[in-house]
Amino acid sequence: MQPGLPTETHPLRGDERRREVAQRRVEELRDLINTHDYRYYVLDSPEVTDAEYDALVRELRGLETEFPELVIPDSPTQRVGGRPSVLFAPVPHQVPMLSLDNAFSAEELAAWASRVERRVRSSPECVCELKIDGLAVSITYENGVLVQAATRGDGQVGEDITANVRTLRSVPMRLRGKELPRVLEVRGEIYLPVKAFERLNQELTQRGERPFANPRNAAAGSLRQKNPAVTASRPLRLWCYGLGFAEGVTFSRHSESLDYLKRLELPVNPAVKQVRTLKQAQSFCAHWQEHRHDVDYEIDGVVVKVDALELQRELGETSRAPRWAIAFKFPPEERTTRVKDIAVNTGRTGRVTPFAVLEPVRVSGATVTYATLHNEEEVHRRDVREGDTVIVRRAGDVIPEVVGPVLSKRPPDTRPWRFPKKCPSCGTKLVREEGEADWRCPNRVGCPSQAIEWLFHFASRGAMDIEHLGYITGTQLLERGQVKDPADVFFLTAEELGQLPNFGEKSVHNLLSAIEAARHRPLWRLLVGLNIRHVGPFAARLLTQAFPSMDALRQASLDELQGVQGVGPRIAQSLHTWLQQPENVRLIEKLRRAGVQLREEAPARRPTTRGRLSGRTVVITGELESMSREEATHAAEAAGARVTSSVSKSTSFVVVGKDPGATKYDKARALGIETVDEREFLRRLGERPTVH
Ligand code: NAD
Repeated sequence: MQPGLPTETHPLRGDERRREVAQRRVEELRDLINTHDYRYYVLDSPEVTDAEYDALVRELRGLETEFPELVIPDSPTQRVGGRPSVLFAPVPHQVPMLSLDNAFSAEELAAWASRVERRVRSSPECVCELKIDGLAVSITYENGVLVQAATRGDGQVGEDITANVRTLRSVPMRLRGKELPRVLEVRGEIYLPVKAFERLNQELTQRGERPFANPRNAAAGSLRQKNPAVTASRPLRLWCYGLGFAEGVTFSRHSESLDYLKRLELPVNPAVKQVRTLKQAQSFCAHWQEHRHDVDYEIDGVVVKVDALELQRELGETSRAPRWAIAFKFPPEERTTRVKDIAVNTGRTGRVTPFAVLEPVRVSGATVTYATLHNEEEVHRRDVREGDTVIVRRAGDVIPEVVGPVLSKRPPDTRPWRFPKKCPSCGTKLVREEGEADWRCPNRVGCPSQAIEWLFHFASRGAMDIEHLGYITGTQLLERGQVKDPADVFFLTAEELGQLPNFGEKSVHNLLSAIEAARHRPLWRLLVGLNIRHVGPFAARLLTQAFPSMDALRQASLDELQGVQGVGPRIAQSLHTWLQQPENVRLIEKLRRAGVQLREEAPARRPTTRGRLSGRTVVITGELESMSREEATHAAEAAGARVTSSVSKSTSFVVVGKDPGATKYDKARALGIETVDEREFLRRLGERPTVH
């Protein structure tokens, strides 16, 4: 039974009520997991540790097992977590790229082994490999030449990252050897070595940008770049661990295919072991758990795979993961150190989080000096005090957590910690609403800490995506009083920006162009950027699909907002209240005056563009200056065009931006299809070019 679900004496009513409560919790969990997936897979910027995320998935899985009627095909337990971003052209996978099921203990590994044995009626030979903590890629070679690279995406459709992968030295452009197969799709993990990760984070921090949470996010963030030059500047590496689609070569065992990849001089990790018994697999796992930092890259477990491909086929797969493999996940690492101080920090929503300042200690290959203590209750529950020796745990996150004090080492003069009464940033009295775990600073407009966090969030990739508006620039603008809230950003002039330290003409131009582009972002992005509690990207998309303008959202009743499928009462209530508050109405009006798009489509654009491209099939490749690819697609579609992702004979013309995908460009040229630049594209849309 799940904790927190009520039991009652009357069986039927009790069952019904438990089911109702379970249903609400299931919806809440799916919403939370979807939001974390988006931050992890799309933004490469997780907000919770992997262990916390895994706990949510386990809770959801438990409820779905207890109430099978609540399972839906779209549940995070039924699908691969990622979602292909619209910034990259989609690549359908010929063979799905699945995730892996996890075993968190030796017992769970044994349970998997018995399931396999039951299904194939024997104890099959397996291959154990290191589970590299990076980003899954599929790299296709045709007659030995690299023609395409893609991310895993949602398992069915990935993102075209060919231009980016071409910049990696560890990936051969051409395979060596004679008689190469016609098609060979190699699968592997692209990763960033730990040292390179630490260097990169140092550089980002110095530039005032937010560091990556872990080497995996850093690898993903470096690879999924609009500009391949950024990828080229990061020392990413590849380990190959298998094959996808292949034509012209066959194998009977997985281990044979690994040997073949090695012969082609592709990088295959040397720590591969064939095992005959569960005990051997368990000791491989135990060995690598102990020695995980002997290698210069992060590994988060061991993957055990049935070796014979015939048996793999027999075992098959679920919609999410193969049954013939399992990932044994290492437990989070723990170390002890001393708490020098306990302090609090005010975040973008006003939430005040306590954290421990630690004597520096190495955990999971990184030096740790701060650890989160979550909230007041957690500090008291764990009774962490200044001066204590504590156990610190890091599970795939930059901010590790304090597990608890080592009481035998507590000095005699320590006192229980008290939560401060005032905001450390603005001095306002903190409040804690009934039923809430967190203290909050209510000074939303005047609190410097909230202001910078909000501005940074507003400009982030997940919201309005204003490039060049990072932490340092944001702080300077706020400190000089040039910006008080995010709407002020749209009124900044070249003259004002020119006064910022180290801001030359080019920086001014770049930031102003980025701000201009942000005026036309889809409404859901603005909604995310407005920092409304509980309104994340998923809810924002659903809400703006149902109410495609800010005015429509404002006019919607609470019932109407709640009626949007997928939007829970908590989200609807929070948005409804926010939209009625006078300071927020003023903010929206300011955004309107600034020319920020407050509808799903800019109304001025539609009439002038509709129909001009009707009957034409358009392909867009590369980065455009005046709009994102997503916006360019919308604009072309609004003008009547059909926008497709690959070039064929029926393509009317190809819009070529900066760093175009080589495949599309080459194909357009080979087929004699017209290519046009951004300026010409805008002309065809009927818009006045604003590109310089
Ligand atoms: P996963 O990382 O647990 O395992 C699947 C992946 O392992 C494969 O796709 C492949 O890329 C990789 N892999 C590495 N070495 C391999 C090898 N030798 N053979 C085969 N595959 C190998 O699964 P996932 O679906 O990518 O991610 C789920 C995990 O990501 C969760 O368990 C969680 O820990 C983490 N996550 C965290 C958050 C967060 O907010 N912190 C959000 C989403 C996911």
